[in-house]
Amino acid sequence: MRKIAILGSTGSIGTQTLEVVRANQDIQVAALAAGSNIVLLEKQIREFQPKLVCVWQEEQAAKLRGKIKDLSVQVVSGMEGLIQTAVVPQTELVVTAVVGMIGIRPTIAAIEEGKKIALANKETLVTAGHLIMPLAQKKQVSILPVDSEHSAVFQVLQGENKKEISRILLTASGGPFRGWTREEMEKIRPEDALKHPNWTMGKKITIDSATMVNKGLEVIEAKWLFGVDAGQIEVVVQPQSVIHSMVEFLDGGILAQLGTPDMKLPIQYALYYPQRRHLEGKRLDFAELGKITFEAPDLTNFRGLALAYQALERGGNIPTVLNAANELAVRRFLEGSIRFLEIPEIIEASMQAISYRDCPSVEQILETEQETYEWIESRW
Ligand code: NDP
Ligand code: MG
Repeated sequence: MRKIAILGSTGSIGTQTLEVVRANQDIQVAALAAGSNIVLLEKQIREFQPKLVCVWQEEQAAKLRGKIKDLSVQVVSGMEGLIQTAVVPQTELVVTAVVGMIGIRPTIAAIEEGKKIALANKETLVTAGHLIMPLAQKKQVSILPVDSEHSAVFQVLQGENKKEISRILLTASGGPFRGWTREEMEKIRPEDALKHPNWTMGKKITIDSATMVNKGLEVIEAKWLFGVDAGQIEVVVQPQSVIHSMVEFLDGGILAQLGTPDMKLPIQYALYYPQRRHLEGKRLDFAELGKITFEAPDLTNFRGLALAYQALERGGNIPTVLNAANELAVRRFLEGSIRFLEIPEIIEASMQAISYRDCPSVEQILETEQETYEWIESRW
């Protein structure tokens, strides 16, 4: 029995991870952490019987303790609790499926303890990749990508030499507003942006996919995971979402990973790497699909992607500024207090306003996050 912990168990990735666990029956869930959905968390606790769970707010944690009095499960809360779930003894792997930069500290703590990381939480690598990758190398810990594009690249690189990569071709669906004019984009409401054509995901990443900031975060994530330069990462729009990404090697040969869009594949691959297992689900039918099409991304109307390349070039704390500004702007858009096109405007303005810091420590990353929030709050 391998033991794992899941941070963000009530979310889209968290629940699909538990589906994989349920289908395989040889993984024991030692710890779970969630934000506030204690109704679902209680169901998960009763089915998967972890020994430790974390709920973000102490008030909610206390409520949960009352609901599961009949079980011997420890319920903790806050950042300290989240870190405790990330380092729970005897677990060999931690699935980081919380949303946002809140994942930095628990991910670092898990690596310090030598746990493998199945990494979904891309915001952590975007903001702290320069700390996480060297630490993982020092501790000889594998960072196994869950993000479908990065899992595709990782799968394609098996048996290959990273030094022979010429380009990484990250595919993008283009989201629900592909091909729209700026005029049309002025009227986008949260409910329109929450409809992704190919994937069902948490709200934040669904908005990020609609703005293409998600692809920008993924470009930065790819740099850290695969050790390539920004100039070697190219985004290709592939609207059917069946090519999950590709790698071109020095000789011009290109390898791709394909399949129906189903996050359970990259999740299961990360949980069992290097083993492949049967996974229930629809198989790709090429005759039914008919064609796979490609186009270049629209960097003018989807400025978020261009800004991510800029942030990667500038480095230091600038990817943190981009990410923090985006996290706040997405929250504001979902509340209905800003327009869709203001999301990249807020990111760009923040990237110009916040001062540069080289090689920020975790504390400095969190300070930059705060500084960015305060700057936006004073102006928007
Ligand atoms: P969801 O919004 O569906 O889930 C987020 C999870 O994080 C929930 O379990 C939520 O708990 C939990 N959470 C939120 N705040 C806290 C907190 N303070 N402490 C502990 N847990 C917290 O997001 P997704 O599953 O879609 O995405 C998770 C991560 O994976 C993101 O970084 C995303 O970019 C990445 N990712 C997601 C993909 C997808 O297909 N969904 C694909 C590739 C990457 P609660 O619900 O109880 O509040
Ligand atoms: Mg992705």
